[in-house]
Amino acid sequence: MTDRNQELFERAARVIPGGVNSPVRAFRAVGGTPRFVQRAQGAYFWDANGKKYIDYIGSWGPMILGHGNAAVLEAVQKAALDGFSFGAPTEREIELAEAILTHVPSMEMVRLVSSGTEAGMSALRLARGATGRSKIIKFEGCYHGHADALLVKAGSGLATFGNPTSAGVPPEVVQHTLVLEYNNIPQLEEAFALHGKELACLMIEPIAGNMNFVRASVPFMQRCRELCTQYGALLVFDEVMTGFRVALGSAQSVYAKSIPGFKPDITVLGKVIGGGMPLAAFGGPRAIMEQLAPTGPVYQAGTLSGNPVATACGLATLKEISKPGFWDALSARTRSLVDGLSAAAAHAGVPFSADCQGGMFGFFLLPELPHNYAKVMTSDSPRFNRLFHGLLDQGVYIAPALYEAGFVSAAHSETDIAETVAAAAAVFKQL
Ligand SMILES: *Cc1c(COP(=O)(O)O)cnc(C)c1O
Repeated sequence: MTDRNQELFERAARVIPGGVNSPVRAFRAVGGTPRFVQRAQGAYFWDANGKKYIDYIGSWGPMILGHGNAAVLEAVQKAALDGFSFGAPTEREIELAEAILTHVPSMEMVRLVSSGTEAGMSALRLARGATGRSKIIKFEGCYHGHADALLVKAGSGLATFGNPTSAGVPPEVVQHTLVLEYNNIPQLEEAFALHGKELACLMIEPIAGNMNFVRASVPFMQRCRELCTQYGALLVFDEVMTGFRVALGSAQSVYAKSIPGFKPDITVLGKVIGGGMPLAAFGGPRAIMEQLAPTGPVYQAGTLSGNPVATACGLATLKEISKPGFWDALSARTRSLVDGLSAAAAHAGVPFSADCQGGMFGFFLLPELPHNYAKVMTSDSPRFNRLFHGLLDQGVYIAPALYEAGFVSAAHSETDIAETVAAAAAVFKQL
């Protein structure tokens, strides 16, 4: 049989760099041929050979209801009939903004954009504009999109400024970006002691999904909040992945349970709020948000911002995930996957640790959950790659890199979970 995935990959590579429009899709970390998706429905997608997979990526998070949810599809079809884009305001943008603010009360105003990168980049400009300061803190292993100032890795010493992680980013552009170790309180305190008065913001993924699944510890998060308040820096929560994915109130609602009154200053959203369409947002208190043009001096704009089809998709998605019982059911499903995988690994004697929150999970071929990027990268990557391909052969599609999170949708059934666990049990025995 000819392999249509391979044919398409070769054809794609002639016209698109690396054959993909976003690097991780190319399977470079795990090797092999990327699967070209033909169509998707519910918890599944089918590749170009017609092979069916249980999908644990869900477009890297957005498809929280599964693919082709009937209510969302209807809303999108209806919106498309009324026009694709106007470049003028619409009522649906207000409705989506209101829905977001209802569930994430730390935000009093929100601006809609088209991608998480755009939202993160704009939040950074806003933080700098609102504080009149330039320096920022980010953490190793956290991803905030591909804006220049955020493509940075740690410099040589403690609390020093970073180096670009991409060609094409001038060193001057990242000279204001301080890169610290996730969950390291003494280093955080030292950085604030040295640079606190010049810091515009601290940007963080509260549960870091771009190093698989690593939670900021409660004491660490509490210290981030205290130091930002003390030094007048803004706490920016990048919830592009965790927003409306780990809880209806997003990750900040999870921290607020342990830290009374906890809230970030600025929140960045994406992925789930678009339900699979290009839509993202950033928001915060009115006084900060009104610094944006046209009311304030911080410029930000977008031709397709608040797109009528994307907002219809996002709004219908948020409506479904706000229904009673949704989060209990989704959390239970995710938990049963994580518990099943853990038991299967233990049975096979494979070192394994896993964690989850709402519809997001992560697992490591490590005996204990790692708490920072360096620890995540001690994972046995050849072993992960064997696990990945073993699952893929059996029709289970997880993220093609050991530093990426996984996602369960409301469309995943207990049968899907049981089949996944059985597939993993078979692979674990040969790892
Ligand atoms: C996906 C992601 C982004 C970037 O969003 P895009 O829509 O891919 O530009 C930013 N931050 C986090 C935490 C993400 O997971």
